[in-house]
Amino acid sequence: MSKKHIPFLNLRHLNDPIRNLLIEDFNSILDSAWFIMGNHLASFEKAYANYSGVQHAIGVANGLDAIHLSLLALDIKEGDEVIVPSNTYIATWLAVTYTGAKIVPVEPDLNTYNITASAVEKALTENTKALIPVHLYGQPCIMDEIMQLADSKGFSVVEDNAQAHGALFCDQRTGSFGHINATSFYPGKNLGALGDGGGVTTNSDNLAKKVLALRNYGSVKKYYNEVIGFNSRLDEVQAAFLIRKLHYLDTWNKERRRLANYYIEHLIGVGDIILPFNDPRVTPVYHLFVIRTKFRDKLKLFLEQNGIETLIHYPVPPHLQKAYNFLGFKRGDFPVAEELAATTISLPLWVGLSEDDQISVVNTIKLFFNQKL
Ligand SMILES: *Cc1c(COP(=O)(O)O)cnc(C)c1O
Repeated sequence: MSKKHIPFLNLRHLNDPIRNLLIEDFNSILDSAWFIMGNHLASFEKAYANYSGVQHAIGVANGLDAIHLSLLALDIKEGDEVIVPSNTYIATWLAVTYTGAKIVPVEPDLNTYNITASAVEKALTENTKALIPVHLYGQPCIMDEIMQLADSKGFSVVEDNAQAHGALFCDQRTGSFGHINATSFYPGKNLGALGDGGGVTTNSDNLAKKVLALRNYGSVKKYYNEVIGFNSRLDEVQAAFLIRKLHYLDTWNKERRRLANYYIEHLIGVGDIILPFNDPRVTPVYHLFVIRTKFRDKLKLFLEQNGIETLIHYPVPPHLQKAYNFLGFKRGDFPVAEELAATTISLPLWVGLSEDDQISVVNTIKLFFNQKL
C-alpha cells in the first residue's frame, strides 16, 4: 500500500470539471488576437460587480495593487494614518507603506481573529484617514459596527476581501460595505484565476473613475494621461477564466462550509483545540480552516510524518518581519497577533477533498492528542 499523502491544497479537482470551457475560452482569445482591455474584462467586471452587489468592479493585476490603488483613489498620502489589523497577510501593510502613510496596527479579537469597531475606535487620531478591515480566513468582520464608526468619525473604509469572496455579513456580500474595496484572484483564493489577478469594488462613480485611470498609466482615453498611473491590468485570458469560475463560486463556497462543518463536528473537545468561531450574523467561506493549539509545532510535525500537509497563516506577524524593522516595533507590542502566530495551524480544506481524507486528518489529530504530550 502506498503511503498516504494529503496535500494542503489541490486545485485540480476544482478546475478539472470546467477544463473544456477554459480551453474554449483560451482558444477563442487566441483567435481574436486581443489580449488586454477587451470584452472579457468588461464582462467580468460587470458580472463581479453584480455578484458583489456594487455599482463598479475594476479588474487589476493582483490583490496588492487592488489595495494600493484603492488607497491612492482615496488620496491617502504621507502624513495620513491608516489602521490595519496586526495579524493580517503582509500585503495589507505593504499597500499602506507604498502610499507613504503611517501604519497603525490594531489587535484582532482573539475569538474571531478579526478587528472590531471598539478596538479601532481606541486607535483613532485626527490623522486617521482610512481603515482596512480584513475578512481573515473567510470570516467576515462585523461590518455594520465598523461602517457606523467610520461614518460618525469621518474616515474611509477599504475592505481587504482577498480571503472572503462570496462571504456574507447579514445577507450582504463582503467587499460591498467599504467606500472602496480590494480583492485578489490569486489561484488559491476562493475565486482564483489561473495566474495573478485582482479587483476593486465600489459604489462611488468618482472612486471607480480614479482606479480606472490608475490601473492603466493614468489614462482613460488612450495616449491622454491625467495622473501618474501604473500598469496594473487584468488580462483577457484571466478575465475569461474568472467569468467561468464565478458561476461556481457559491457552489464551491457551500462545499467549503460542508467540509469545515465536518471538521468542527469531529474535532470538538479534542485536546486543547480551539475551533473557528462563528458569529450568527456571518456566513463564512472558509478560505482557510484554522484551528489553534498550544502544541502547534508538535502537531504540525506529527501530521507531516503521517502524510498530511498543513500550513501556518501566518508564522511571523508583519510588525516582526525584517522588512518592517524600520517601524521600530518589537516583540510584545501586539501580543494577540504574536499569540496567533504561535498557535494557529491550517488544515487541508479544498473542493474535492474526500471524506476518507477528512477522516484521516481527524483521526491523526485524535491520535496525536491521545499520546502523552
Ligand atoms: C492574498 C492576499 C492579498 C494579496 O493578494 P495578491 O493577489 O497575492 O497580491 C492581500 N490581502 C490578503 C488578506 C490576502 O490573503
